[in-house]
Amino acid sequence: MNYDVIVVGGGPAGMFAAVTAAEQGSKVLLLEANDRLGKKLLITGKGRCNVTNNCTAQEVLQNVPRNGKFLYSVMENYPPSSVMNFFESRGCALKTERGNRVFPVSDQSRTVLDCLQKEMRRLGVRVQTGRVTEILTKDGCVDGVKAGAEIYSANAVIVATGGVSYPTTGSTGDGYKLASALGHTVIQPGGSLVPLETTGNVCQRMQGLSLRNVAVKLLNGKGKAVYKDFGELLFTHFGVSGPTVLSASAHIKEFPCKFLIDLKPALEENKLDERILRDLDTYKNRTMENALTDLLPRSMIPVVLDMICVPADLQANSLTKQQRRALVEVLKAFPVEVTGKRPVAEAIVTSGGIKVSEIDPKTMMSKLVQGLYFVGEVIDCDAYTGGFNLQIAWATGYAAGMAIKR
Ligand SMILES: Cc1cc2nc3c(=O)[nH]c(=O)nc-3n(C[C@H](O)[C@H](O)[C@H](O)COP(=O)(O)OP(=O)(O)OC[C@H]3O[C@@H](n4cnc5c(N)ncnc54)[C@H](O)[C@@H]3O)c2cc1C
Repeated sequence: MNYDVIVVGGGPAGMFAAVTAAEQGSKVLLLEANDRLGKKLLITGKGRCNVTNNCTAQEVLQNVPRNGKFLYSVMENYPPSSVMNFFESRGCALKTERGNRVFPVSDQSRTVLDCLQKEMRRLGVRVQTGRVTEILTKDGCVDGVKAGAEIYSANAVIVATGGVSYPTTGSTGDGYKLASALGHTVIQPGGSLVPLETTGNVCQRMQGLSLRNVAVKLLNGKGKAVYKDFGELLFTHFGVSGPTVLSASAHIKEFPCKFLIDLKPALEENKLDERILRDLDTYKNRTMENALTDLLPRSMIPVVLDMICVPADLQANSLTKQQRRALVEVLKAFPVEVTGKRPVAEAIVTSGGIKVSEIDPKTMMSKLVQGLYFVGEVIDCDAYTGGFNLQIAWATGYAAGMAIKR
């Protein structure tokens, strides 16, 4: 079984590389360990798939904290506008939302996957189920792959096996083993865009509570604000999660650190104080626990009252000015002490992977083995949220697919 190109892994990077190589006239085989393609792609963007970010190549690189420079060439060559053009010209209509995030108009990641699969069929890419266990070489050049008992021959192999996050989708770190067996260095994988663990039982007491439209500030160990965001946050049994937390996690360099949550970002402190006064007056004969129900979610009230040392059964009209002041302060800067990240398996993206200095930044070809390519998350690059990680998958996949023709 001879092919020009074998792609290992049917995620976004692998499918895009396969399409590009086939468009250039190569005979392509794509081997995917799962019985279907794009399992992770389907769960991206909460099932809506944030395909890319509608911005320039330069702006993409500003959102790649790890080895962004390495991607300079491929990003200039295949920026978000090219990605958007690819999908739209093939019938997958896109729309741009807040923060330049691009989604399919259908709001379904399935549309993106269908588009890629249809394109592979049109171009004659052979897709087969099979888990690659070895990349074969001859005289320092790629010669094929082994998958189960089968041997497939090709002079080019594109490794698109992803990282180690969400392993149930198939990203189990096989690419690291395949690459290190051929002499490549693998930078220790860890989680980026990952939920965070916290001290005490503050978060546990509110587990399941999701806050919308809150402003969060991340303070480093020295108390300096290193990241600010606005949006959603979720309390869990281990700590905090949700979009603002995942984004903030990529900016954490050391633990412990602290989150300050502004629960009422639309109100200045004096306006919030006036609002609380009105509520206390309306509910003056209620206990504090029952007087704050218009202001806060139920499960948060006892936690907030404990934090400012006000008994839950205190009558609302007995709250002192000082206690009210403390209430305003905690609502404007609810503190959460962060002790660590959740395991990499729970991360949205893997940080670490194949060392970039061993890959040609223009073609994604290995500098150690002729005909071996790496694309997507398997490489030691990762980005913030906003469609940038998929943009890396598309741009690197395109670069490898094009390079093989040359
Ligand atoms: C919950 C979640 C939401 C996300 N949302 C977004 C988003 O909206 N926007 C965004 O930009 N990014 C998002 N990401 C990140 C994005 O999904 C990844 O960066 C992207 O999928 C990486 O693509 P990839 O093709 O490199 O790897 P993967 O998508 O991980 O695909 C790798 C494929 O290789 C296969 N494979 C592995 N080993 C072998 C083997 N030995 N043989 C054959 N096949 C193998 C796997 O089964 C898998 O199908 C999200 C991630 C998660 C977990």
